Amino acid sequence: MTPATRVALLTPMGKSALATFALIGPGSVSLANQLFRSAKGPPIDERDFRPRYGHFGIGLSDDVVVTQRPGSAELIVEIHCHGGTAMVSALIEQLIARGAVRVPWQEFERAAGYSMIQVEAMEALGQVTAPKGADLLVDQWQGSLDRAFTFLRQTRDQKLLHELFAWEKLGAHLAEPWRVVFFGKPNVGKSSLVNALAGFERAIVSATAGTTRDLLSVDVTFEGWPFRLLDGAGLRDTDDPIEKEGVQRILAEIELADLRIEVVDLTEDPDRFKSTQADLVIGGKGDAPSHWNAKQRDSLDGIVSARTGESLDELIRMIVKRLIPVEPSPGQAIPFTDRQRQELRQLIALPS
Ligand code: GDP
Repeated sequence: MTPATRVALLTPMGKSALATFALIGPGSVSLANQLFRSAKGPPIDERDFRPRYGHFGIGLSDDVVVTQRPGSAELIVEIHCHGGTAMVSALIEQLIARGAVRVPWQEFERAAGYSMIQVEAMEALGQVTAPKGADLLVDQWQGSLDRAFTFLRQTRDQKLLHELFAWEKLGAHLAEPWRVVFFGKPNVGKSSLVNALAGFERAIVSATAGTTRDLLSVDVTFEGWPFRLLDGAGLRDTDDPIEKEGVQRILAEIELADLRIEVVDLTEDPDRFKSTQADLVIGGKGDAPSHWNAKQRDSLDGIVSARTGESLDELIRMIVKRLIPVEPSPGQAIPFTDRQRQELRQLIALPS
């Protein structure tokens, strides 16, 4: 049976200057030609891959450029139009009315001959914000992980399996930022510190204890990797229902975070928030006269000043080192989705 001609929107749905939708399957060219009027020159022709410019749609139509994607498993016609969501939907509907079947873009790319891992890499590349994550995802798209899986399915090589597991956590954070939560008593300088690390004024910074009630977050790139810095209500007992809610939220975040940084105030008597676990304890307000003696200061992982910027670069280095102690070499195979991690687990469970 001849497979149906399928249509998919290849760019994310939303406001944008341009959008691309595409047809795949043997009937793609004739179906596209039902709606395409070339501005000058011939209609779309499957033996001639040159781009065409013209109008697409009957009644409601748009100026488009039509291209064909060479080298894919099936014939593909791509239509590049303006990005208004109503127009894009209307043009796709016109194709569906003429027999095309709508499929998700992932299914479309699979039919075009891309592996599951390549499609997952394309999806992750759409979310990525930091350059090192992008580089590694391009490596996976180019075949690093596909090659590793092919080898593993044949050999169950334990060394390679363990190597891939070692990159699991990093792989989960190529596109998704590592969550770093800053907590501590009210007024110790958490918001100022997060602002200083992010390089701009974002949260309300105030001398009144308990001002920062909401959980605020900012996404940053440190040394090429993505991080989400979170700061929230100061941890203290309170009767204020709004502040209570803020404290609950930061406590929940402390549970979930990849790294917990407790901030303590060097201008106050040494005191820490006892009931939560910190990965790093940082003394803030390092520029001001301190109430802490040398031994107490030595017990901290670092001393910084949001006001002067002192030692912020060291804190950034410390955060990166804790979460990414070793950087992968270019071309390293790295599992980066739940599906891939599950497949690895299945492979390790199977007898070799
Ligand atoms: P939070 O409640 O822990 O988020 O604390 P804030 O960031 O709102 O800061 C509380 C107070 O400490 C404000 O008056 C800030 O100006 C002051 N502060 C914050 N960071 C520093 C710092 O690095 N040095 C000094 N001297 N004061 C700071």
